[in-house]
Amino acid sequence: MQPDSPIEEIFRLKDTQKKALSKLGIKTAEDLLHHLPSRYGELVETKPIVEISKGDMATICGKITNIKKTRAFKKRFSLTEATIEDETGKIKVIWFHQPYIVNMLKESSWTCLTGKVTQGKSGTYLANPDFSPENKLSSDLENNKKSLFSNTEKTNETLLIPVYPESRGVSSKWLHHSILKILRSGIHKKLEDPIPKEVLRKYNLPSLLDALVFIHSPKNEKDTRVARKRFAFEEIFFIQMAHLKARANYDKNKSIAINTKQEDIEEFLSKFPFKPTNGQLKAIDQITKDLKKGKPMARLLEGDVGSGKTLVAATVSYAVVEAGFQVAYMAPTEILAQQLFKNFIDYFKHLGIWVQVGLITGSECRKFPSKANPEDSTHISRTQLLKWVQDGSISILVGTHSLIQKGVKFSAQGQSASGGKNLALVIIDEQHRFGTAQRAKLARDKSEVTPHLLSMTATPIPRTLALTIYSDLDLTILDEMPPGRKQIITEIVSPAERALTYEKIRKELKEGRQAYVICPRIDEPDPDKALSLNVKSVKEEALRLRKDIFPEVEIGILHGKLKSKEKEEVMQQFSCGQIDILVATSVVEVGVNVPNATIIIIEGADRFGLAQLHQLRGRVLRSNHQSYCFVFTDSKSKTTKERLKALKTARNGFELAEYDLSLRGPGELGGGKQWGISDIGMEAIKNIKMVEVAREESQRIIKEDPELKKYPLIKERISNQKTEIHFE
Ligand code: ADP
Ligand code: MG
Repeated sequence: MQPDSPIEEIFRLKDTQKKALSKLGIKTAEDLLHHLPSRYGELVETKPIVEISKGDMATICGKITNIKKTRAFKKRFSLTEATIEDETGKIKVIWFHQPYIVNMLKESSWTCLTGKVTQGKSGTYLANPDFSPENKLSSDLENNKKSLFSNTEKTNETLLIPVYPESRGVSSKWLHHSILKILRSGIHKKLEDPIPKEVLRKYNLPSLLDALVFIHSPKNEKDTRVARKRFAFEEIFFIQMAHLKARANYDKNKSIAINTKQEDIEEFLSKFPFKPTNGQLKAIDQITKDLKKGKPMARLLEGDVGSGKTLVAATVSYAVVEAGFQVAYMAPTEILAQQLFKNFIDYFKHLGIWVQVGLITGSECRKFPSKANPEDSTHISRTQLLKWVQDGSISILVGTHSLIQKGVKFSAQGQSASGGKNLALVIIDEQHRFGTAQRAKLARDKSEVTPHLLSMTATPIPRTLALTIYSDLDLTILDEMPPGRKQIITEIVSPAERALTYEKIRKELKEGRQAYVICPRIDEPDPDKALSLNVKSVKEEALRLRKDIFPEVEIGILHGKLKSKEKEEVMQQFSCGQIDILVATSVVEVGVNVPNATIIIIEGADRFGLAQLHQLRGRVLRSNHQSYCFVFTDSKSKTTKERLKALKTARNGFELAEYDLSLRGPGELGGGKQWGISDIGMEAIKNIKMVEVAREESQRIIKEDPELKKYPLIKERISNQKTEIHFE
């Protein structure tokens, strides 16, 4: 048996088990060993047999004898019976429906069993106990250990029973026993530790072998902590290694050094009626420095909704165009692309007509300025647009995915009518909404030089998470809002205040304002799921509002199950004021600008993360009118109220994201999935020190040995890793 032996060669598996294992992503012995417990079963006191009584959950340690497999009388299921015996007495043990147990027990071996003391017809017995012959493993290990665990407290003879993520067909118990079997066979000893020894030593982390034993068969709580720490570190260390390696490769690409001129930037900024914030200036500075380096930029600009990322993008675009190059700007939806195009026109209008901006989406192509009206854009044919892009007369092309479709060619250096134009800068808005492949495609453009890449996002995430998932990008954070912005009035509304709040909203609607209502679900709640009964759904709530609350206004709905055409249509209607109230799930287009929408109601607020609530609130930030955010909650829990209160006090989304993370305990850290991070990895995200260490070490290794010649295990590991890589 080898670590990479297929699991079905090690265990005799039923089809349902095979299916379940493949669902859990377990194909080999090694995979199984890396299936980590999500928690540990209750600590159960170890008692001498003489002290136990009926109904107790008890752990009994002793010698096991009389093991036999039988069948239940009349009924046709299997039983495994045995006797366990300590100095004070003996008791019968019965396992129902678990024939495989018989192979896991050894006559006269010493073991600990945890189960319920049950009264049967023929006496008391211990029912379906969990058992841990592996205790032996841990104690062997303990004896061999020197430094790290030498000060382990004496155990108080309790048992920690790992509980594993299950799937239909394989139970936690089955997983536990199978893992123990593999550990007992010793195959894990053939595994090589991919984390370099010096790193383990430096941070006092256990080796892979020790950590596997500790996590699957801990002697005490400290074992589990130490092991989890290692696996958490391992996960983010390799995410970072993979990213940094990809970045090192990316950096080798040929790129154009663009010497943007400071005068151009100052001139451009001076045309605005307001002063750029320090954050914006710093961002522009960092970006233009990157552009001059002659290796492709890969930078992420993170900033709250409304922090003024477009201005940064526009300034940099202008400087790049003035230096003689072309810019492509990609947005995730048509509405956003149109909006950006309009913003750019507004920004460039002042500057004379020499900056030509194009728009390309699935449904139309436009060009600014129009010959007839230099203040405005005009509709043109796709062929015409593509021609002008290719000959370099259009300097900035804004668009959706259409930007990366076949047929869109930017001008090649020296070929264009207007001199040496070339696609040199690619800007991607709301970058997380694009797939990796799409980003890579735009970034390449099949030409020999790689354009510089600026991604932008308004999704507030904690710094530790950003440093991990974006470790292939350089980060610029815009954490400052333009001054003089009206604060959104945020109110936490209890059920008793609902009616009053609706009246306030009615007044605003009468004034001509519009509102969003955000619900956690799309459909009627499933009657079987008692838990979801109180959770509002878009469809239901829209009906209720139409009938009982706001019969006088137009109400529309928007959610993820609508076709994208339908979505755009509804958004368009909301945009132009045909719809007064838009009832939606949290999918409401990020960054969509409807300045007349000044109210957002969030139903079931305790279902959303703080950062998400903050982002939803950002939808009503764009107006000159006073905006309101009403956060509706039925929750009576004090922590929920505290949490929601933070919405009123936090200065920005990043602060909220940090706060959200700090409030969550282990086991509540889910939500990593969308970023490709497991629950255990999220534990590392909570630990700034650990993220920094993983970052330092991976940076050091890549710097010392970019090809990873001295680290074949790291190289192999990251080549198999399915982490999302932003550049590949
Ligand atoms: P986002 O970061 O969400 O993309 P935008 O770039 O759309 O934000 O900017 C939001 C609004 O703030 C725009 O109307 C923009 O003109 C305005 N704005 C940007 N920078 C400043 C500034 N320094 N001072 C005042 N207003 C600004
Ligand atoms: Mg924006």
